[in-house]
Amino acid sequence: MGQGLSCAATQEHGFFSAVQSGDLDAVKTMLERDPSLIHQTTAYDRQSALHIAAANGRIEILSMILERSVDPDVVNRHKQTPLMLAAMHGKIACLIKLIEAGANILKFDSLHERTCLHYAAYYGHSDCLQAVLSAAQSSHVAVSWGYARFVNIRDGRGAAPLHLAARQRRPQCVRILLDNGALVCASTGGYGCPGSTPLHLAARGGSLDCIRELLAWGADRIQRDASGRIPYLVALKHKHGACAALLNPSATEPLVWPSPLKFISELNQEAKALLERALMDANKEREKNILKGTAYSLPSPSHSDSGADDNISEASDTEVCCICFEQVCTIEVQDCGHQMCAQCTLALCCHNKPNPTTACLNPPVCPFCRSSIVRLVVAKVKDSEDADLDIGDIGSPKMRKARKSRNFSSEESSSFKGLSGMSPFGKMGGRGSGRIAAENERVDKP
Ligand SMILES: [Zn+2]
Ligand SMILES: [Zn+2]
Repeated sequence: MGQGLSCAATQEHGFFSAVQSGDLDAVKTMLERDPSLIHQTTAYDRQSALHIAAANGRIEILSMILERSVDPDVVNRHKQTPLMLAAMHGKIACLIKLIEAGANILKFDSLHERTCLHYAAYYGHSDCLQAVLSAAQSSHVAVSWGYARFVNIRDGRGAAPLHLAARQRRPQCVRILLDNGALVCASTGGYGCPGSTPLHLAARGGSLDCIRELLAWGADRIQRDASGRIPYLVALKHKHGACAALLNPSATEPLVWPSPLKFISELNQEAKALLERALMDANKEREKNILKGTAYSLPSPSHSDSGADDNISEASDTEVCCICFEQVCTIEVQDCGHQMCAQCTLALCCHNKPNPTTACLNPPVCPFCRSSIVRLVVAKVKDSEDADLDIGDIGSPKMRKARKSRNFSSEESSSFKGLSGMSPFGKMGGRGSGRIAAENERVDKP
């Protein structure tokens, strides 16, 4: 009998090795010889072939096993499903296949009572995280549980996926979760130090990128954990100096994404990406000022970034924003059709962090005509012929006329002067601004 057992064990071992190494033919042959192998599990961890295929990204074998109507939610010793292992190891193809096969995204393991969403966030696989969230939106989970509740799902110690992503320095996952409604100021129960917010955990992990994302979504720098510490003290304790500088409550407040505004929540992908980048750029600029002169000054922005900026200013000479005279008009206000740059749009929409006592925001209006903003879209790029116009054409009657009709109405001057005064992007007098400012003087006069 002992011999029989060991023979079976050897056979199983060969089978699991074949699954692990992705040897589809060998796996098929072995299954033909002994179909029961498909329900066998490893001796200690009780991993099934489906677990091993998922963890190792063996999509062909995984598909073949699923076709043989194996339960996609089979669990191992720790009640982990194959879906959790795919999320843990970032095996996106297997993860999608499992979801298509009906795997349940709302299963909890027995280690920390975590879901596949926790796994994806903890290990920083943003593609898997996104796929699970998409599945949640279109599945029974959204109906029976509520999507927002799923995004903020807690593990056994009260950690939501956002807490784990912040602690593990996963800025991309932090961003995706926030964008999907993760609560930026939620405290943990027992995870980390009790009462920690995602910002406390990011301070502990020491990730500037995570801190930047959290602050841009309105994370509170003076919220305390259960032992009374603000994130600044946590960063200091763990010797993350640059993080501490940004978290210091006396440092300048960063711009916060104006999510309560209706037309901001309804932005299309393109316009949203543009405004988000402008917000991040503005906040990085603030960071540089905060860190200037400290031991933690940041490396200057990458060359690709500054190169892109240069290109924009070159092209901008025909379409310079009439508020800052610095950037290109990239955003169009609808329905009136007035245009301005992404930075000025943000300055218009982003007050500093919304005051909880005045949660109701007065939505901003178009700075040019004072009509209400129905939506913001990306301004249409002029066709290539126009884009090639050289600087000499700026003052041409055609351009002047176009600008005049598009951006100026009888009452514009007071409103946009007021706005540029409060614009945090200040710094008037970029390339070409003198010229255009002079032109505007002319236009302004009655
Ligand atoms: Zn502007
Ligand atoms: Zn307007």
